[in-house]
This record gives sequence, C-alpha cells and structure tokens, in this order.
Amino acid sequence: MKIIISYPPLNKEKGTPLLSQNRQFQYFKDPTYIYPVVPAQAASLLKREGFDVLWNDCIAMDWEYQQFIDFIKNEKPDLIAMETKTPVVKEHWKIINDIKRLSTIDYRPLTVLFGDHVTAMPEESMINSQVDFIITGGDYDFLLLNLCNAVREAQDSGEHYTLGAHLEPGIWYRKDEKIKNTGKFELKHNLNTLPFIDRVLTKWQLYAYKNGNYRKTPGTYIMSGRDCWWGKCTFCSWPQLYPEFRSRNPENVLDEIEMLVDKFQVKEIMDDSGTFPVGKWLKEFCLGMIKRGLNKKVTLDCNMRFGALSFEEYKLMQKAGFRFLLFGIESGNQTTLDRIKKNLRLETIIPSCQDARSAGLYPHITIMFGYPWESYEDAQNTLKLGKFLLKKDYAYTMQSTVVVPYPGTPLFEECKHKDLLYSTNWEDYDMKSPLMKTDFSKEKLLQLVQSLYSVSYSPEFVARKILSIRDIDDLKYFGRAFLKVAGHIFDFSKKKT
Ligand code: SF4
Repeated sequence: MKIIISYPPLNKEKGTPLLSQNRQFQYFKDPTYIYPVVPAQAASLLKREGFDVLWNDCIAMDWEYQQFIDFIKNEKPDLIAMETKTPVVKEHWKIINDIKRLSTIDYRPLTVLFGDHVTAMPEESMINSQVDFIITGGDYDFLLLNLCNAVREAQDSGEHYTLGAHLEPGIWYRKDEKIKNTGKFELKHNLNTLPFIDRVLTKWQLYAYKNGNYRKTPGTYIMSGRDCWWGKCTFCSWPQLYPEFRSRNPENVLDEIEMLVDKFQVKEIMDDSGTFPVGKWLKEFCLGMIKRGLNKKVTLDCNMRFGALSFEEYKLMQKAGFRFLLFGIESGNQTTLDRIKKNLRLETIIPSCQDARSAGLYPHITIMFGYPWESYEDAQNTLKLGKFLLKKDYAYTMQSTVVVPYPGTPLFEECKHKDLLYSTNWEDYDMKSPLMKTDFSKEKLLQLVQSLYSVSYSPEFVARKILSIRDIDDLKYFGRAFLKVAGHIFDFSKKKT
C-alpha cells in the first residue's frame, strides 16, 4: 500500500506558510522551514511497518500546484495524508476535492487530514470537503498507522470488513454516506516505542539550512516530549487540544542525538517540544550529553519557560551544549499573564532572563500584541519590557506577533462568546493582522509589533552584536538574522493591513 505524506503547494501571495508544528501559524516573507517532526515520525513508523511511503513537502521544495497534481497522477498513492491549520484549511478542502477528481474506475485515492484545526472542528472538514478520514489529537503518527493497517486489511478482506471497528478512538470516517467517528482520541501512546525519524525518507536537508534559529548548519529538529508540561495558556492551541504531556526517556533522546551527529554530521538541533522537560529529566539528559561528549559536537536549542529553572540549571544546560532558549513572555502586564493562565509573575522575567544570559545561554523572547482587554498603554508596557530586555542584552533575539485565538482554545471561546472577533473567516487567522477587537486601531497595533523589531537597528544593539561576533558562524547567523528582521518588518508593515 502506497502512502504519501504531503504538504501541497499553497497560495504564495501572502508569503511562505509556516505550517508544521507551529502552535501559532505565520506566513514569512523570508522563508523559514521547520522540520515537521510528528508527520516525519508518522512516515518513519509507516515505513517500519512495511508501507511504501513517500514524503512530499511541496512548500519546502517550492513546487507549483500542477507539479503536485502530476506527481499524484504518476505515483497513484492509495492514501494521501496532510497536516492542516486554520488559515489554510479552506485551501486544503479544494486540494482534497481536486485529488478526489483524479479517481477512475480502478483508482480511488483516499485522503486524510490531521492537525490542530481539524481536532477542534472535525465535522466542518468532513462536511465541506470530500476528505475520507480525519485524525484528531496529537498522536497522528500512531493513529495514521492504525488507520493504514485497517485500510490495508479492508482492501485484503473485501466487503465484510468493518473498518470502524478496527480504528482507534479519534478517527472520523464515512460509512453509507454518513459521517461517523470512533469517539474521543486518547493520548496514551508510548513515545519511546517510535522509531527515530528516517531523515533520508523525510528529506532532512530541505529543513537543514533555511531556519533563523540555527547559528550553525546543517541543523535539524527533534521532539523530546508532547507537548508542554505546563500546557494551560489559553491561546496555545497544541497543549490545549492535546493536553496530556509525555516525554521520551533521556537515553532515547540522547541515542537519537548521537545518531544525528554521527550519521548526518548535524551541528545544531532544535528540540521543539512545547516546553522542554525540566527537573530530574533535564539533569539526567544534560549529564548524558556531557558524558557522551555530545556537548562538544552539537549545539542544542529548546523552548523554555521563565521561572522554571535556577541559575545552576541554566549553567548545566550551557555545559551540556544548549545555546538558544525560546521564552514566551506574551505580555508585559500581570493582568494579561493571569488572564491567559501563563502562570508567570512579571517580576520573574528580568532575573530569569539575566540568569540564562549570564550562564552563557542566548534567550530568545516572543511577545504578542492584540489582547482585547489591553489598552494602548498596556500594550506599550509590553513593548517597553521587550525593548529593555533586548537593549540590556538580557534577551539576545526576539519575535513579536499579533495574538490569534485559534479554534479549540479557551481564548477563541471567550472571544466568540463576548463578540470580540473581527472575523470568523479562517483565512484571516494568520497572525498578520489583528483579529480581536481592541480599543485602539489595527494600524496602531501593527506599529507596536513592528516597533520591537526596530530595536535591531538601534546603535546600542547593533554595536553589541558586532562586538559579540567571534567566528564565521556568528557572522553568517547575524547576516541571516538581519534578513529575517527586515522580512518581519515587511510582514507587519502598515501597507499590509
Ligand atoms: S508554556 Fe508555552 S507551550 Fe506551554 S502552554 Fe504556555 S505558551 Fe503553550
């Protein structure tokens, strides 16, 4: 049975869509390619179980739409699975219908959608497109295997096979022209049983260079856990929709890192778990990196929370090879942090950032604007905090965006309930322009988003960055970062409102 895991070409007018494992969706002018870890895990698992699997990321390969359609016509896969997200779900419905039109008397391609949007609203895609299956929940690698096994058995057994009876909870399907499902998904699969991602099958080099997070290339992605051990922030789609945190064993992660270094000479690895595991797990992992000498061979990056680690723990991480730690500040107002359930005290941010920096780490901060309850002055507090951290060099790099309430999150429900949404057209949910009503204009809000990027051009900031250049990798990194900042400023420029 032939399966294609695909990211079909999408409308390029808005830029390059950042689709995979981005908890918040964005189009980038200057493309960044994030390794789609869970779909890559699915491809590797299917291959291990004897399926003929093809990896087809048309976005990273910059394919045209006709090229994709010709590819499907030539390969004639039995099943095509694709990840979708809110701003592009309508495009995916059209693509699915185009694929279904390729059906003939003896060729009937099956289509599958998975991802956060269809987890929140599975029925919508079943109604609005001819998609055959929807996988809900975050374990779509395990569930896709279950589905493919059931389809293969059904193909072998003929009419008497009851597909629904062989599917795990969380799968939507059609039977006798009716929409059915197998109930609520369960996040109980053991992540240690997964094979390491087959990097050759999933074309790892497509994602090894064009990524603003990497200082050294080639780089790659792994995930030590799914998805965030805190998991309560009301805007954050993955942990809200996939609320069970599980991690792999430290030894299992270390084995994968060792394989990536030895076999592919990878220089930098981003762990994209929502928040990297802490406590005993982190200590064991760091000591393992040092003991195996991996800290001398590869640089590590991860997502972290302020206030989760002591100075000693930051120091240990630095010794273990960590460099870039991504922290979500989200807002410079305590009321907002409380309302979005960030579980973060404002007064923790500066010392925690300072600790990470003095331990030799490079904190990257992300902040957001556009909370409906924040006044312009509140939003300026956030900007002030971001600028302060950057100017003082407590934070090394930053990202500033518009907050988007994605379906399935408590923030979306709150906004819907209180009539705070400008639009429920999913195509607008791309972080480019404000979606929640605020008591100041959209233009002012976008200026705030841009203002943080303008720090990058302040003499103090530029001088500090120049002085910190130590080698050619730093120089290349700053060159790439400069282009990214220019791209972000363009992404949020006033013209685009
Ligand atoms: S800490 Fe980060 S990953 Fe975790 S729920 Fe909050 S925003 Fe999401």
